[in-house]
Amino acid sequence: MPFIISDIAYVDLNFQNTSKAIATGVYGGDAVVLVDPGPGSCIDTLTGLLQAQGIAVRDIQSILITHIHLDHAGATGLLVQENPKIQVFVHEKGAPHVIDPSKLINSANQLWGVEGVARLWGKTLPVPQENLHILGEHDRITAGGHVFDVKYTPGHASHHVSYFDEQTGIVWAGDTAGLRFTSQIFTLPPTPPPDIDLEAWRGSIATLRAWGPETVFITHFGPYGNVPEHLDDLERSLTAAADVVKRILQTDVPDEAKYEQFKKAVFEYIHAAGIPEDEIAPLEHVGPLEFNWRGLVRYWKKRGVGA
Ligand SMILES: [Zn+2]
Repeated sequence: MPFIISDIAYVDLNFQNTSKAIATGVYGGDAVVLVDPGPGSCIDTLTGLLQAQGIAVRDIQSILITHIHLDHAGATGLLVQENPKIQVFVHEKGAPHVIDPSKLINSANQLWGVEGVARLWGKTLPVPQENLHILGEHDRITAGGHVFDVKYTPGHASHHVSYFDEQTGIVWAGDTAGLRFTSQIFTLPPTPPPDIDLEAWRGSIATLRAWGPETVFITHFGPYGNVPEHLDDLERSLTAAADVVKRILQTDVPDEAKYEQFKKAVFEYIHAAGIPEDEIAPLEHVGPLEFNWRGLVRYWKKRGVGA
C-alpha cells in the first residue's frame, strides 16, 4: 500500500534490531508532531531518523500518545527533558502514569526483570504535569496545525485513544486495530494483561469504523488501506483467540500444558491463512504469545471461566 501523503510519514524504530516491529508517526513541517514516540531504548534511533529528515528534538511541538505502554510512549519523558516545550496528549487514565511512571516500571520489572527492562525499554522518565494535555471520552484537538478528532478506544488497554486526521483520512489507532506485518489482510490481536476487555474492544473497533478512515495506521506495523476489511479480520482473529483460550480453560488439561495448546492453535491459525512464519517475525518482540495467553486467561477468569 503506497503511503504518499505530503508531510506525513513514519519511521521504523528497528526495535531489538527487528524491522517492522515498532513505528512512530511523524508530521513534519514547522511544528512537528510525533505519534507514539516508542520506548526509551529506541531514543537514539528515533532522533537519528528524525535528524535524517532535518528534524531536531527542538522542532517537536506535540506528541500524541495512543496509550502509555512502554513500547508506545516510554521515550516521551526523554524527549520532554530535552525540549520542555513539547505538549503531550494522553488519556486521563494514562496521565497519572506518565507523570509518575514508577508503577509502570515496577510491573515491567516483574515481567522482564530489572535487566530485561533496561535492555528492552531503556529509560522511562516522568513527564511534568504542565506538559500534559489530558484527553477524555471525545475531544477535538489541534497539534502542529493539524486537527484531530480523538476518541476513547479501550479494549487492549483501559487508557487507549485513537486520533483521526480528517484532512488525510488516517486514523492513528495504536494497538486498537491489532497487529499486522504483511500486505495480506491478516491481523492478530495484542492481548497482554491486565486490561483486556473484549466487549470494550469490539465497541472501539466500531468507533474506528464510524470515522470511515481511508487508512489505518497501527504501531505494529504501519499504514494499511481497505480499512473495513482490516477491521473485519481483526474482529475474526480477536474472537478466534478468545474462543480458543476459553475452550482450553474448560478442558482438564494440566495447567502447565495449556499455554502450549494455545501456542499450537495460534500457529495453526497463522499457517491456515498461508502466512510464512518469517513474515510474522516481529510478533515475538511486540506481542509475545505467552503474554497474549495470560491477558485472555485473566479476562475469562474474571468472568468465572476456568477460575
Ligand atoms: Zn499496547
